[in-house]
Amino acid sequence: MSVKIKIPASEISSLKNGRLTVENEGRCFRCDSSPADHYESHHLKYRVGMKKNRIYSNKFEFSRSYWLKIAICESCYQSDFLLHPDLLDRDGSPLARVVQFHSTTSMLGGLLAALGFLLLTPFIPETGLLAPLKQIWQLPVVIGVIALLLSWLSQRKYHNRVLTEFEKNYPGIQSHARAGVITRVVKNEKDASEIILEIDMENESWAIEAAKAHNWSYETNPTESEKTTSQKV
Ligand SMILES: [Zn+2]
Repeated sequence: MSVKIKIPASEISSLKNGRLTVENEGRCFRCDSSPADHYESHHLKYRVGMKKNRIYSNKFEFSRSYWLKIAICESCYQSDFLLHPDLLDRDGSPLARVVQFHSTTSMLGGLLAALGFLLLTPFIPETGLLAPLKQIWQLPVVIGVIALLLSWLSQRKYHNRVLTEFEKNYPGIQSHARAGVITRVVKNEKDASEIILEIDMENESWAIEAAKAHNWSYETNPTESEKTTSQKV
């Protein structure tokens, strides 16, 4: 079974620091371990009133970003670094700094390589202020590609180092799934009870306790594997 926690619009619209934190007495929401000093983070949007008749993109009367943070333990945090480094919570920890460094070097390498190829195109004229740069288009391309390569090698090095430590500290441990998150656009801002955020968790007891502590409603559902099993029976 999994549990879906249902969070009303009033909870999101009243966030003071743009951050909704879901915790349960220092326990990890995935594996129940303590302490749970890290978070699984989801970057979400609180959106009110979709404007209709737009062909290319949706526009809203009001839109604001916020973070959903759910408490996890050290092993689940390390597991996230190994499996989903791009989604790792940037909480200033050593692993988060490693991810941030690789993200920055990859972005700079990509930008430099793109700049080199842009100099090569007819968009940059043969004469004029940028003409000398056009002659050396290979330089930013080479530096950019080297930066991308070094960043990739560094990522492999850290990945293997953390994997070795992880297997030594938590032999045979199973990785647990991230929470499933669904957001909805608020139709009527005055209806504070409208459910606009749903969080789906496999750890039933953790989810029900957290929901009760915040006075949020919830529902239990069979997981995909349980549905398949019951169909076979
Ligand atoms: Zn955990």
